[in-house]
Amino acid sequence: MNKRTFAIIKPDAVRNNYTGLIYDRILKANFTILGAKLIRMTKAQAEGFYAVHRERPFFTELTDFMSSGKCMVLALEKENAVAEWRKTIGATNPAEADAGTIRKDFATSLGENAVHGSDSDENAKLEISFFFSESELIANL
Ligand code: GDP
Repeated sequence: MNKRTFAIIKPDAVRNNYTGLIYDRILKANFTILGAKLIRMTKAQAEGFYAVHRERPFFTELTDFMSSGKCMVLALEKENAVAEWRKTIGATNPAEADAGTIRKDFATSLGENAVHGSDSDENAKLEISFFFSESELIANL
């Protein structure tokens, strides 16, 4: 079973100085951070990463936002990582997110919702490899 997932602390959260608070949530939820990078996505990178949403009406808004400032990309490890991280971040729309979730506490809106989390093991693998080479990931020895 794949124990990894991929996360992004999105530009709204970095701009709002929530990076440290979200890191704290990651560690308190017992994820191991295998890799972390502060990057500024290009528009082309954002379009590539979200290619699956290409036909959606919010694609331009989403990729403009994701390339609008710095974000933190992370490879996380934990047993059942994909589901555990989705539980930690909460629903896509912060108005519908459960109390205590990252999106409930730090998201700005449906579009600017503070964090990303992979939705399947297969996508976690693809998304990690979109931003990290295997040699950049530090195993929990
Ligand atoms: P996620 O897996 O919870 O991130 O949700 P989705 O895969 O459905 O959507 C991907 C991302 O697109 C979300 O996290 C939002 O940032 C953005 N998004 C989703 N719906 C909308 C929308 O209606 N408007 C805008 N501007 N962005 C949206």
